[in-house]
Amino acid sequence: MMEFTHTASFNGHCTTLPLSSNNVTLDPTVKDKWGRPALRTTFMNHPDDIATMKFFMERSMELMDAAGAIKKVGSYAENGQTGGVHLLGTCRMGNDPATSVVDRYNRSHDVPNLFMVDGGSMVTSGRGQPTMTIMALAFRAADHLIQAARRGEV
Ligand SMILES: Cc1cc2nc3c(=O)[nH]c(=O)nc-3n(C[C@H](O)[C@H](O)[C@H](O)COP(=O)(O)OP(=O)(O)OC[C@H]3O[C@@H](n4cnc5c(N)ncnc54)[C@H](O)[C@@H]3O)c2cc1C
Repeated sequence: MMEFTHTASFNGHCTTLPLSSNNVTLDPTVKDKWGRPALRTTFMNHPDDIATMKFFMERSMELMDAAGAIKKVGSYAENGQTGGVHLLGTCRMGNDPATSVVDRYNRSHDVPNLFMVDGGSMVTSGRGQPTMTIMALAFRAADHLIQAARRGEV
């Protein structure tokens, strides 16, 4: 029987490095139901991502030992993660149109009247929870949009 009053668990929130090899592109052969190129998502954890997970698991084990744990079970995604809930990136923010999609105000470099205000501009979370940062960037983008509209620039 599980003694839930005597059970503790540690879940390690790690992160993934912002690699250009992890991307969303148009598939050269697969089509969607309208006959247009389908989206292709390519992702592979960097060895450093795996090392971070392993490091966290080992520290968790040490915490268990220090707390006098009797039975310990630990695991990490040593072959790469298969899921995640903080989905960020694909529309990298940056000053250079050659290497980024949106500018610092989440405005598309290529389409001036297009603002993409979501987690897409952040190619890594730096390990923090992303939503407050997404909201802060949204407020900044909205301020910029209002000012630009008043000047007749959008
Ligand atoms: C289980 C879970 C737990 C989480 N916990 C936390 C937490 O504790 N703290 C934290 O900071 N973050 C947390 N997150 C992450 C956070 O929810 C996301 O990072 C954030 O919501 C991303 O915002 P977004 O605007 O980029 O995308 P989303 O919030 O996913 O918004 C995308 C929107 O686009 C809409 N959409 C999709 N396709 C289309 C289409 N074709 N046409 C029109 N609309 C479309 C969707 O319906 C959705 O409303 C969690 C996420 C999950 C799944």
